[in-house]
Amino acid sequence: MARIFVVANQKGGVGKTTTTVNLAAALARHGQRVLLVDLDPQGNATMGSGIDKRSLQRSVYHVLIGLASVEQTVQPSPSGDYMVLPANRELAGAEVELVDIDERETRLKQALAEVDSRYDFVLIDCPPSLSMLTLNGFCSAHGVIIPMQCEYYALEGLSDLVNTIKKVHANFNSDLTVIGLLRVMFDPRMTLAQQVSAQLEQHFGDKVFRTVIPRNVRLAEAPSYGQPGVVFDPGSRGAKAYLEFGAELIERLKAGA
Ligand code: ADP
Ligand code: MG
Repeated sequence: MARIFVVANQKGGVGKTTTTVNLAAALARHGQRVLLVDLDPQGNATMGSGIDKRSLQRSVYHVLIGLASVEQTVQPSPSGDYMVLPANRELAGAEVELVDIDERETRLKQALAEVDSRYDFVLIDCPPSLSMLTLNGFCSAHGVIIPMQCEYYALEGLSDLVNTIKKVHANFNSDLTVIGLLRVMFDPRMTLAQQVSAQLEQHFGDKVFRTVIPRNVRLAEAPSYGQPGVVFDPGSRGAKAYLEFGAELIERLKAGA
């Protein structure tokens, strides 16, 4: 059975897509069968996996609306050893079209059920909002991975997100839990970053992943080459951190966390 994780944070630019793409590539490097689902109409995870979002015949949009199956729509990433259910701006229309469809919040969950046995991990990249798309992600998943920058407002945003996850848990998906908080774009030279990081550990204990992802320019450069940082420059500090994060996640799941 696939472990399905959604990478979410209602803020934009916090490292969701970078985390999804690099975790997908890292888990693949660790021998796992991975499907990345791009649920953001911006299609950044699609492009970052080396797939041109402008030339998609089918996308996750068609899957949500019921015009195609996941199997008909997935493509291998040419730059990482994983599969991608791609997205582009067409997906923005799904929001409106889903209004008339029954059980609209579980469209993705139903579609993914058909490919469950083919993957060890399904990773879902979400848009920066609590939209019907994100709700589909939450309803499909066993857990949420929350990337966050250790800055002043991070904790405030976090309580909103945790409340949302609690509501989804109560109303739609009793499987859903927070798998963990991932500190990203971390700059150890900043005192504030260290303080917020320590606060996170205090409040959330072992819900905070041990691995910390540093701010690393190679991770930011990789998408323009259509590659995950883990593939683009495997020796960089950022790539090494995501490889370590993949190993940590596998280890946690083995330990039953
Ligand atoms: P989101 O998906 O949450 O909007 P992104 O993953 O697209 O966030 O990241 C926002 C920007 O920050 C991108 O330009 C990305 O390349 C850059 N970035 C993300 N993580 C890192 C990192 N660890 N080091 C340096 N730049 C990063
Ligand atoms: Mg993104």
